[in-house]
Amino acid sequence: MSATNSNLELPICNHTPTAYDGPSRDEVIALRHQYVSPGVLTYYQDPLMIVEGNMQYLWDESGKRYLDGFAGIVTVSVGHCHPKVVEKVREQTGRLQHTTTIYLHPAIAQFAEKLAGKMPEGLSRSYFTNSGSEANEVAILSAREYTGNEPVIALRNGYHGGTSIPMGLTAHGTWKFKSNPQLNVLHTNPGYCYRCPYDLEYPSCDLKCAYDVKNVIQYQSPGEIACFIGEPIQGVGGTVTPPKDFFKVVYEIVRQHGGLCFADEVQGGFGRTGHHYWSHQNYDVVPDGISMAKGIGNGIPLGGFTTTEPISEVMKNRIHFNTFGGNPISMTQGLATLEVIDEENIQQNALEVGTHLKNRLLELQETQPLIGEVRGLGLMLGVELVRDRKTKEPANTEAAAVMEQCKNRGLIIGKGGLFGNTLRIKPPMCITKDDANFMVDCLDEVLSTVR
Ligand code: PLP
Repeated sequence: MSATNSNLELPICNHTPTAYDGPSRDEVIALRHQYVSPGVLTYYQDPLMIVEGNMQYLWDESGKRYLDGFAGIVTVSVGHCHPKVVEKVREQTGRLQHTTTIYLHPAIAQFAEKLAGKMPEGLSRSYFTNSGSEANEVAILSAREYTGNEPVIALRNGYHGGTSIPMGLTAHGTWKFKSNPQLNVLHTNPGYCYRCPYDLEYPSCDLKCAYDVKNVIQYQSPGEIACFIGEPIQGVGGTVTPPKDFFKVVYEIVRQHGGLCFADEVQGGFGRTGHHYWSHQNYDVVPDGISMAKGIGNGIPLGGFTTTEPISEVMKNRIHFNTFGGNPISMTQGLATLEVIDEENIQQNALEVGTHLKNRLLELQETQPLIGEVRGLGLMLGVELVRDRKTKEPANTEAAAVMEQCKNRGLIIGKGGLFGNTLRIKPPMCITKDDANFMVDCLDEVLSTVR
């Protein structure tokens, strides 16, 4: 372990990592500088090299173990190298690695059927992609074709991916490029109560932020729109968790203007929020389509968009091809992942351990003044750091320092939010209460040194 004055011990783990004998860290850094685009994001001043994973734990090249409190990037839903997932994929890899959707293959049909069984009523047809960005591209294309309208509404503070349309949907200056066109995407208020743009309080605010969508449509569109897309709980945006009726209001207004309503479940789906399989179900709404990625395949390049039969029919007799979408290996990994979520009560674990973790973080807020707000559901939690609880000045450099120091103590977490001041805690959903306690003890120790 790197030098810290900590006595914290990671929970016991039975996995022994294989000795690493690949290129050294310095060699990898040099190769990366020379050959990999500088646009590729790296966390930490001194980037971490990860060479092995087992369930909720990761190892670096020196054999040091970390608790993965960020699940890759909220991608590893059931645990790194989960044995069942590995076994199924190993078998498929030996049999057939590649075929495309121009031929029949059982894996795509079986996976689509399994997914349909998890969907809200009426959503049954899936289109598979390699990423969440592509899933959102398909969602928007489908809505525009189906409605004949072009304007799309998304939420400020939301993140939807790095290809052209999703960059337009994304409403964070940090992720925008000056040259990328906005492509007829309009933005409305998210339900970010902690930083309410109207300086109001819920519930006496009467959800003014949700009703803003009406103004956006009236002032900025011809009155009819293609769709609304929003993350029920914003991930990259810092685990922003709108109040209960927020999406009911938005969906109703959008539908009154001819638009479809889509939920981006790339981060919040597959049981992560605990009470429900899908994060939108926490808001009692039924979307017309769901875009997915990340947790759907336990971390492999796999995404998808599932919608109703009539909406999916817009693709009929059209050629919209995705070479790797529906690949047998990704379909097999997706199916095995969803089976493990069911068989191992992963959603229930997300609820129980997530509730325990959130309660302990709320306790921590009482003694750690840097914590402005603890929010989120299940194992999708955020801790917004502020320098002053009254002014809410974002503690962004402090958040970066917390991440660094947690890493030194063997804990990996993420951060996000418009100001980069929200710690994101979204571990693989197989973590235990001991892991959760380690996380909070670690944060407690680190926050005491950073403040
Ligand atoms: N939607 C959400 C909510 C995301 O968090 C992300 C990625 O972080 C995406 C879409 C884009 O997914 P990908 O990076 O797989 O293209």
